[in-house]
Amino acid sequence: MNARTCQSCSTDISPLIDSFGRKVTYLRLSITDRCNLRCRYCMPEDGVNVLDHKSILSYEEMERLSRIFVSLGVNKIRITGGEPFVRKGCLEFMERLKEQSPGLSLHLTTNGVAVGPYLQGLKELGIKGINLSLDTLDAERFKEITRRDKLEKVLAVFHEILRLELPLKVNAVVQEDTGDDELLRMAQLVKDYPVAMRFIELMPFSGAEEHHVIEMSQTLESRLFKLFPGLTELSSKHVETARKFSLPGYAGTLGIIEGESRKFCATCNKLRVTSSGMMKNCLYDQGALNLRDLLRATPDDSEVAGEIRKAVSKKLKNGMEAAKLNGNSSEDSMASIGG
Ligand code: SAM
Ligand code: SF4
Repeated sequence: MNARTCQSCSTDISPLIDSFGRKVTYLRLSITDRCNLRCRYCMPEDGVNVLDHKSILSYEEMERLSRIFVSLGVNKIRITGGEPFVRKGCLEFMERLKEQSPGLSLHLTTNGVAVGPYLQGLKELGIKGINLSLDTLDAERFKEITRRDKLEKVLAVFHEILRLELPLKVNAVVQEDTGDDELLRMAQLVKDYPVAMRFIELMPFSGAEEHHVIEMSQTLESRLFKLFPGLTELSSKHVETARKFSLPGYAGTLGIIEGESRKFCATCNKLRVTSSGMMKNCLYDQGALNLRDLLRATPDDSEVAGEIRKAVSKKLKNGMEAAKLNGNSSEDSMASIGG
């Protein structure tokens, strides 16, 4: 594609498009690798080796980065972590992002444990949606999975998000021992409330074993069709990571996120930036550009934008190729990548 340049300053203002013609408009920004839960598929019991203060991007650096990405055509940013609200000043940071780019669609992925006091503020800043991670409605199992006793808090947040009428998606990772009874119970939430429940394929990141992952991703869809007669797939005009289904008489929708099967790569519009400022074109690559070092080395935003363009042009066709290139190793924690 030919570059479009600004007539007054000759900056390249063409949209970010990779070599397969996919337009990049969505950034997932992990603002911390720290977390107040220890989900067994995400982190070891004693946590990951957390990065020191200087190794992670400062809020000022992330604000600058966000301005640069917006100038490149990014119109949606998801704040994630670790747990975003474990980092002090998260709400104020999100308010500043919105102030500097009023048209930006801001989203949040959270485990719900610490976000309660900030929900009203998130509504006031105009958050476009919250993804709440919740794998079970059983307190004992919640403790087993997350190694913390916090289900009550998360459920209170679930109800408060609905009371505030904020768009809510629930992410539930389907694990080796997630029984049909669990899937049915989780789906009951969808019957009663207007939420999008998404069952996520387990991915082999710190803790999840590869052979279980492959077996499970092959059976999730057929399991849901068996459990929920009348399940009908909905088509979407938008690029979506989840396949969505409706069920007669249900207030919300069910969905599957087939991340491990990598079924949505052909329409991928995403980039990720980890808490240490590594830009990833794909969940499965080892990093395409060290933005932290670049931001610290140059005050020139157009230079940073140019490097982002170059890195995006190297985005591979799909996650299988990205994983192959990095030796199929997935040593990274989802907590530093942001999911
Ligand atoms: N702490 C926040 C939370 O849990 O919502 C945000 C970060 S977390 C890394 C983002 C998402 O990644 C969560 O929905 C979590 O369930 C998902 N995740 C983490 N490890 C995973 C794995 N091994 N397979 C599939 N999903 C995973
Ligand atoms: Fe923390 Fe989210 Fe990872 Fe669970 S999935 S340990 S809540 S970062």
